[in-house]
Amino acid sequence: MTKLLFERYPSLIGRLPIIEFVHAPTPVRAHPALGQAIGHEALYVKHDGLSAPEYGGNKPRKLEFLLADARRTGAAAVVTMGGIGTNHGLATAIFARKLGLACHLVLFDQPMTGYVRKNLLLFNRYGAICHHAGGYARTAWMVAKELARSHLSADGPTALVPAGGTSALGALGFVEAALELERQIENGELPEPELIVCAVGSCGTYAGLLAGLKLTRLNARVVGVRVVDRLVVNVRAVMKFGNRALALLRENGAAIGGAEVRKTDVRLLHTQFGGRYGRVTADGKAAVDLAETHGLVLETTYTGKAFAGLRDLAAAGVRGPILFWNTYNSVDLSGDLQAEDPRALPPALRAIYERTA
Ligand SMILES: *Cc1c(COP(=O)(O)O)cnc(C)c1O
Repeated sequence: MTKLLFERYPSLIGRLPIIEFVHAPTPVRAHPALGQAIGHEALYVKHDGLSAPEYGGNKPRKLEFLLADARRTGAAAVVTMGGIGTNHGLATAIFARKLGLACHLVLFDQPMTGYVRKNLLLFNRYGAICHHAGGYARTAWMVAKELARSHLSADGPTALVPAGGTSALGALGFVEAALELERQIENGELPEPELIVCAVGSCGTYAGLLAGLKLTRLNARVVGVRVVDRLVVNVRAVMKFGNRALALLRENGAAIGGAEVRKTDVRLLHTQFGGRYGRVTADGKAAVDLAETHGLVLETTYTGKAFAGLRDLAAAGVRGPILFWNTYNSVDLSGDLQAEDPRALPPALRAIYERTA
């Protein structure tokens, strides 16, 4: 068991479900040229794009706990939901398949982009059974819950994986990630950051990081760049997931004292959202293009907006090192993608695939 959480709090062993997917620690690198381009040379990137060889990004960290939990309950299948380009859904399909679990994805509409189209092909490639629930996330969540409750899937007991992989249990993946970062700083791989920036979609990544940092000596200001409606991403939701993650550790015997995510710890940046989940914004697109010229591949739904937010924060005056937490997969799936023929998609997926932007 290589998890720092289990090393540090041995009472968790055998009590918290875990199946390891993540190859930790993910690399941290200095990016002086990209930093210079945004006027801040002490820029570092946490490359979670490389978190797992099958598929990287932030989702494998959550799924290590969530899919282990599904398997512990005897599930033969899992069901989750997301937008039609959901990275969470893609990651769930890939890792569920690795464990021999069937995977159902309930999808709601989001603006069509190149990466959405790629993900649609990949859902099919990795054997996910897709259900289209129309325009609303709420409807998709209701359909997913119903699928799990009724075992309609005919695959046998079906476990519900939360939207975005975000729950107290899923957020533990990023409590672990905060301990991982502390260890890298102790090892001299990077200086202690003054500011850490990540994208915030369903809150699990950001809440987990805030909670995990409470268990370390680090004092960084952590800013979450909101890319989803305020109904989902807000101070209360972040505090809820962060503190529930800490409560879960305590309930399982971890001696974490009075560690707590406070209101004042939560710093959300609202200026990059652009009014709709998945909408391509000019600032986000410019950030994606700039990062790409320096070899960092981002996308427009999450990480482009997050990097645009980082650039604004840097310009507003940060003296010390800044760490950008890259949550986007950087494992190349183009080989698998090329083998996929859009004409072979099931009719519902094909109709979505053929939509124009
Ligand atoms: C899902 C996702 C996020 C958001 O993470 P949450 O934990 O849902 O807030 C950020 N970046 C990328 C690339 C993602 O796929």
